[in-house]
Amino acid sequence: MPSGRRSSKRPYGQPHQELDVDRVWGNRARIETGPRGEDFYVAIPRPTDRTFVCPGCQGEISGEVQHVVAWPVDGIMGADAAAESRRHWHTGCWQSFGRAR
Ligand SMILES: [Zn+2]
Repeated sequence: MPSGRRSSKRPYGQPHQELDVDRVWGNRARIETGPRGEDFYVAIPRPTDRTFVCPGCQGEISGEVQHVVAWPVDGIMGADAAAESRRHWHTGCWQSFGRAR
C-alpha cells in the first residue's frame, strides 16, 4: 500500500478568510454589489467621535450618525489590504452612488 505521500491537507491554502468580519463587525457585515459591480462588504460601524469624508458626495460624515462602511471583497492587494481600504459612506450615498440612472 503506497504511503509517504505528502498530505494534501495544509494549514494554508484554505479558501480566503472573510477578514474576520464576523468578529470585527459582530456579524453585521453583508455583501452588496458596489458601484462598479464588484462585491463589497458593507457594515454599520460603531459610533465614534471621528469625522469621515464620504467618497460619494465629498461631504463630512459624523461618526455619531449612523452610516455604512464598505470595502472590496477581493482587493487586488489581498483581503487584508482591502480591509484597510474601507471607506465610510453616507447610507444614502452608498445606496445611490454609481447606481443612478
Ligand atoms: Zn455622502
